[in-house]
Amino acid sequence: MTTLNIRQTVVELCVELSHRGHFSGTGGNIALRIDATHIAVTPSATDYLTMTPADVCVLRLADLKQVEGERSPSVESGLHARVLRARPDVQASIHTHQPVASACALLGRALEVPPSPLQQLLGRRIPVVGYAPSGSGWLSSRLARALRPDTNAYLMFNHGVLCCGASTETALQAVEDLEALSKTLLLQAIAARCEREPFMQPALRRVADALAA
Ligand SMILES: [Zn+2]
Repeated sequence: MTTLNIRQTVVELCVELSHRGHFSGTGGNIALRIDATHIAVTPSATDYLTMTPADVCVLRLADLKQVEGERSPSVESGLHARVLRARPDVQASIHTHQPVASACALLGRALEVPPSPLQQLLGRRIPVVGYAPSGSGWLSSRLARALRPDTNAYLMFNHGVLCCGASTETALQAVEDLEALSKTLLLQAIAARCEREPFMQPALRRVADALAA
């Protein structure tokens, strides 16, 4: 694939993520592998619905030196680079603040993936990466330590989510399936708490109804 094609794919993927509700405003960013030494990343603080391929930045994977694109690259370029360096099988890395999985990231508990084809896509267990400020080397290092060859989804405590995949399609599917799984697991946790604490039922039911809507 040429650099221009990859830049176009970045634009299309961002529009898709925005339309599906996983990117809100300029929140969220992505990186795609171009070749062994270069990646394409979303620019910083750009409206994804008006972004063009010319806005997409091309960086050297080894040191993040910008080689194409006039805008500044996403502050999370370092985060994506850690994924793409550590996982040669990964083509696409997506960071979102998607609503339900990000709510799970606030709770700070890893998600156990039930035995199903989902384990192939996401992994058996979705870990929580400890909190560090957005865009910091500290956050990148914490994520790098959590990376596993068979795990393609990570919750970042008090922040959001990172999903990756061997293609843009599988990375996007991981984002979608993680959101659906998060909703299922939260609804199960709410139902269990209603059993244990009947006096909480009215409040919990309202939360469950809003979540299921
Ligand atoms: Zn973020």
